[in-house]
Amino acid sequence: MSVYNSLDSITDELHKCMKCGNCMAVCPIYKETRQEVGVARGKISLVEYLLAGELDMTEGLADRFSLCTTCMACNTNCPCGVRFDKIILAARAEAVRKKGLHSVKKIAFTALKMQRLFDLGMKTGSIFQGVALKHLPHKSDRIARMRFDVGIGTEKVFPMLAKKTLRSEFPEVIRVNNPKMRVAFFTGCMINYFYTDIGRAVVEVLNENDIEVVIPRGQGCCGIPASVNGDVVSARALAKRNLRAFEKLGADALVVACSSGGTAWKHVFAELLENDPEFKVLADKWASKSYDISEFLIHKVPFKKEGLGRVERKVTYHDPCHLNRGQGISREPREILTSIPGVEVIEMKEPGRCCGMAGSFSIVHPDLSVQISDHKTADIALTHTDTVATGCPACRLQLKSGVENAGIEEEVVHTIQILAESYRAGKKN
Ligand code: SF4
Ligand code: SF4
Repeated sequence: MSVYNSLDSITDELHKCMKCGNCMAVCPIYKETRQEVGVARGKISLVEYLLAGELDMTEGLADRFSLCTTCMACNTNCPCGVRFDKIILAARAEAVRKKGLHSVKKIAFTALKMQRLFDLGMKTGSIFQGVALKHLPHKSDRIARMRFDVGIGTEKVFPMLAKKTLRSEFPEVIRVNNPKMRVAFFTGCMINYFYTDIGRAVVEVLNENDIEVVIPRGQGCCGIPASVNGDVVSARALAKRNLRAFEKLGADALVVACSSGGTAWKHVFAELLENDPEFKVLADKWASKSYDISEFLIHKVPFKKEGLGRVERKVTYHDPCHLNRGQGISREPREILTSIPGVEVIEMKEPGRCCGMAGSFSIVHPDLSVQISDHKTADIALTHTDTVATGCPACRLQLKSGVENAGIEEEVVHTIQILAESYRAGKKN
């Protein structure tokens, strides 16, 4: 039974927990709050009381379930193999079934389902963003801070909305001569609306490797923001929209450059749609041919090494939680980076430690999010590198905000951008 359908679905996971407290050692929330409710064990107890009928789902209880970045560090440190990620998703879905969705989230997820309206809103936003955002001069990124506090402070550094979305920059099918294969690119929202430079690098690298790229117009949000906040209805609608859009154009494989998008295509769509026979078949089919871009370039179509030019960068790599622990991908991006002439990779102390972004977590708990991020920034500073590479646009946002506020001169990019840069340098030479 899916975690999105019933709280009973996680009874076996709850029974596995022997309350040893090993999860305390790795939980980024517990490290900051030192409160039992912050750690997996505390929240497991709350769910047990709920299921036993000794607690009612209240807004206060739902708030406590929001205290989790879903980083999955507790999963990996648990001697009993408890899948806490399942427990927290089931608890949040139950909270929405019992108490409804917060009005701000309801508006946001409804907007995400209305793709054309959402596109129009983002386009309008890109024109008038200067009203709310103060542009910060920067040599490589278009970044800004809020002009006024809307509940998250004014210190956070954001990327500015792109003038043109990634999906409108390219035709739906980007052809190459004698293609090896046809690959569909799921852009995700952050790459489509903010970090179009990542999307361009993905297309550039795939084309360089003789791969025809398809960017289905009908795609939209992956639905992860909705599913991790318990809005199962919206998440299902978004999963179906994406499956329809990709099925219409077809491809030999699907690539993503975003850890949430990858998790959605590989795991979440099939689980959300388990009771919908028609879409479950589609979800399973696309899950079996979905790849993170680094995974694709190492395992599916090994990227060309000839033609790589020199890139003088000292790079440290941050592992996004949902790429590393969620999809088991940590070696692949490092293998790409170390293949690039001129790139020196220097590991930070805890590359797999959560950066504290976690989507809406950073908006609901802005102070806690920054406290978690500060540890990551300090680890980055100790590497004395000039570049942080990562595999997720949301982590890029958080890491950039951290280094910018700490006054560290560090570029933050997706791994694929450095590979694209190397191919470009190779051509120049
Ligand atoms: S480490 Fe695992 S078994 Fe121990 S308290 Fe945490 S969730 Fe329970
Ligand atoms: S998923 Fe991460 S933040 Fe959530 S309880 Fe586990 S270790 Fe803590």
